[in-house]
Amino acid sequence: MADFDVIVVGGGNAAFCTALAAREKGASVVMLEAAPLDEAGGNSRFTAGSMRVVYNGIEDIKKIVPDLTAQEIATTDFGTYTQDQFFDDMARVTQYRANPDLVELLVTKSLDTVLWMRDKGVRFVPIYGRQAFRIEGKFKFWGGLTVESVGGGPGLIEMETQSAKRQGIEIRYETRATDLLYDGKRVSGVRVRERGELGEVRGKSVVLACGGFQANPEWRTRYLGPGWDLAKVRGTRFNAGDGIRMALAIGASPCGNWSGCHAVGWDMNAPEFGDLAVGDQFQKHSYPFAIMVNAAGKRFVDEGADFRNYTYAKYGRVILEQPGQFAWQIFDKKTKPLQRDEYNIRRATKVTANTLEELAEQLDGVDPAQFLRTIAEYNKAVRTDIPFNPNVKDGRRTDGLAIPKSNWANTIDEPPFEGYGVTCGLTFTFGGLRITTDGEVVDLDFRPIPGLYAAGELVGGLFYFNYPGGSGLTSGAVFGRIAGSSAARAAKG
Ligand SMILES: Cc1cc2nc3c(=O)[nH]c(=O)nc-3n(C[C@H](O)[C@H](O)[C@H](O)COP(=O)(O)OP(=O)(O)OC[C@H]3O[C@@H](n4cnc5c(N)ncnc54)[C@H](O)[C@@H]3O)c2cc1C
Repeated sequence: MADFDVIVVGGGNAAFCTALAAREKGASVVMLEAAPLDEAGGNSRFTAGSMRVVYNGIEDIKKIVPDLTAQEIATTDFGTYTQDQFFDDMARVTQYRANPDLVELLVTKSLDTVLWMRDKGVRFVPIYGRQAFRIEGKFKFWGGLTVESVGGGPGLIEMETQSAKRQGIEIRYETRATDLLYDGKRVSGVRVRERGELGEVRGKSVVLACGGFQANPEWRTRYLGPGWDLAKVRGTRFNAGDGIRMALAIGASPCGNWSGCHAVGWDMNAPEFGDLAVGDQFQKHSYPFAIMVNAAGKRFVDEGADFRNYTYAKYGRVILEQPGQFAWQIFDKKTKPLQRDEYNIRRATKVTANTLEELAEQLDGVDPAQFLRTIAEYNKAVRTDIPFNPNVKDGRRTDGLAIPKSNWANTIDEPPFEGYGVTCGLTFTFGGLRITTDGEVVDLDFRPIPGLYAAGELVGGLFYFNYPGGSGLTSGAVFGRIAGSSAARAAKG
């Protein structure tokens, strides 16, 4: 006897979108969230709430943000982010590995799904500041990332929680699913540990939306490789790979880039897991306007290879590979105003100096003599004859360096100088479960496992090597909505 039509395992954005879609189809729905209320909401709660969504101009933006003021419209160039651009970005950054069927859904359903979230009570605003710089009185958006939920990730989870409650969806906190109930034919529920007590919850369909394995150092080392046990986890401590493990245990097919993950430059003294009081502010994403040096005092990556949105998720790995797993980002007076707000938090690992020599002495763990040589060579190589413009790939580059800087190169010669210490912050893992375009989890013969669905981080096949910023929430929303509808349809027969 089923307790519910649909059981949703997880309490983040993918889980909420699943639950809301299932409820919309008339299903009775329970969400099982491993975290207690004060830590609930998964990685989604740690985000800025930025969502990558297709729009063909201001008219689409007005549908997502109907309360834009006339002044905002007059002073903003939103540009466009077409389906073709989103397709191209997904193909390019994943080196043409992403599953085209999943990408097609992600891209073509993104706008429709964000508007559906609006109908469910989620509000959005443009990402002024982070995604648009003001030049000659006008903001210009760049990088295909234009809207975020009101109140960021915490706001998103709050709005989704209220919406779920309004729809009569039950949410059980401190309830960790441990195993699937499966008789070899159909999944009929989950085993749980609910506030310390073992039990079972029975349902006609189960949707796994309980995240990747990034918070599990043993799995990280096993699948991402040696050294990944040393990475800091940017978000929730609750995503330890349970959903993937439970599904594999009944014969589900693994899929995607199991040795890959989204990982960024993150404060070197950040705690082992994310801290909700700080949210995403341990990240240090203004490196395209800076340079990064390692313990040897050398640059090791093209900081300006592309817009931040297309490099940040792969540069965490590059930092992890440096000696001691750290780097310092170097700014001077000219580039300081381009820093994002996260550079101002009190818990930033920061040093300041009035000369480069003094700065060199303060960069913990860095060879000072080589650092000074690196800066001198870099300053000489900057093409100051090319105009600097942070809103476009300006081609203001270095010439003649072994590791070039391709855009936004500025000399580092005006005091005060600043260094920010970063290490690798792991966001989420890319490997996961194989699903159909209806969100069904398939077995090793690629046949759907009756009663089992998946959405969000634990879906494999979408992201490889890298990731276009803002796709995680969009993926959770699009595939959550699909999985929730399919699970409800199957449950209601
Ligand atoms: C600091 C940070 C900033 C980010 N910024 C952005 C951004 O601005 N835009 C963007 O698109 N993406 C961003 N991301 C990525 C984004 O958070 C994820 O891609 C997305 O939130 C994943 O949603 P999800 O619902 O699959 O997982 P989550 O939101 O992590 O939800 C998983 C849920 O499952 C629960 N759970 C885990 N195991 C169990 C179990 N066994 N039983 C029951 N429940 C369980 C967890 O407690 C959690 O509630 C960011 C991530 C971090 C960490």
